[in-house]
Amino acid sequence: MIEKPDFSKLAEEEGGRIVEPQFASEDTDLEFSLRPKHLNEYIGQEKVKENLKVYIEAAKRRKEPLDHVLLYGPPGLGKTTLAGIIANEMGVNIKITSGPAIEKPGELAALLTGLQTGDVLFVDEIHRLSRQVEEILYPAMEDCVLDIMIGKGPSAQSIRVDLNKFTLIGATTRAGQLTGPLRDRFGVIMRLEMYTPQELCDIIMRSSVILSIPCERSGAMELARRSRGTPRIANRLLKRVRDFAEIMGDGKITKEMADIALNRLEIDKLGLDSLDKRFLTMIINGYNGGPVGLETLASALGEESVTLEDVCEPYLMQLGFISRTPRGRCATELAYRHLGILKDGQQTLD
Ligand code: ADP
Repeated sequence: MIEKPDFSKLAEEEGGRIVEPQFASEDTDLEFSLRPKHLNEYIGQEKVKENLKVYIEAAKRRKEPLDHVLLYGPPGLGKTTLAGIIANEMGVNIKITSGPAIEKPGELAALLTGLQTGDVLFVDEIHRLSRQVEEILYPAMEDCVLDIMIGKGPSAQSIRVDLNKFTLIGATTRAGQLTGPLRDRFGVIMRLEMYTPQELCDIIMRSSVILSIPCERSGAMELARRSRGTPRIANRLLKRVRDFAEIMGDGKITKEMADIALNRLEIDKLGLDSLDKRFLTMIINGYNGGPVGLETLASALGEESVTLEDVCEPYLMQLGFISRTPRGRCATELAYRHLGILKDGQQTLD
């Protein structure tokens, strides 16, 4: 007899939340094979796609590089994927880096001088560029030049180096943290929205074909509803639920199998996991429904405030479970109802 592994333990041992929208090492192979390469394979984000099609077509007709593009929205919604698609559709190369990876102005200068005409430089987490590095970007984005200081003290000299015309694509989860001068230098600014369950279902069906995972549409829809509006989570759940289907069923992901697996992984009907529930319960039971400041909540829960802000809050706000007021976070009626808690703190019977 085959001994069935304890999947909830397995998930814990592997560390980290399954519904974490940030990139995790387990996603490496998965993301490489599943990333759409063309705009027509990119599911959802209709408004963004329509506009991009026009900008790409216009730039190609003028035989000019695309204007600089800023993509913003929560992690895992497809910003890196879209940058790759833009480069592909424009028929140019893409270099990928991130704000924290560029420590010195010289490192950015080296990246910029290596670009051919029209190439895309993708900078993820662009809000985390240091001030010094950011200042190198301004003339590069505006006039395609680098101003480099040679030497130190009174003998220091500034020299100008011409660059090939390029497209900078910046991605950020926090558009509000971008400095004004940097934001102003992007000709195109686009916000990615969370996906509808229908769109996520299409993404899961597409992934299941690529990965040869037998999956019924009703099974995919169950995963979609519990993927927090995020393709990265949808693909990760598909991979995890496949394990359950292979060990506990006949390999096919049906609605029932998805339900069993996700319950074992402690992901509820709306995609909330234990951290979301602790977050909501703390506001409700610990602070009488709020308002309560983010820092206070973070220390009460023993979590980083950025984790709560970037990972829990966007989805809980999307569901209408919390509201942000100047005095802090409040739990809404919907959150009470979902958790089955009455306003006076008692548990409901259902
Ligand atoms: P971000 O850069 O916003 O964190 P990614 O571009 O890395 O997100 O996307 C995460 C994964 O989700 C990708 O590997 C891709 O397979 C999938 N994905 C994202 N957006 C889409 C989409 N619109 N259609 C299909 N798959 C998508």
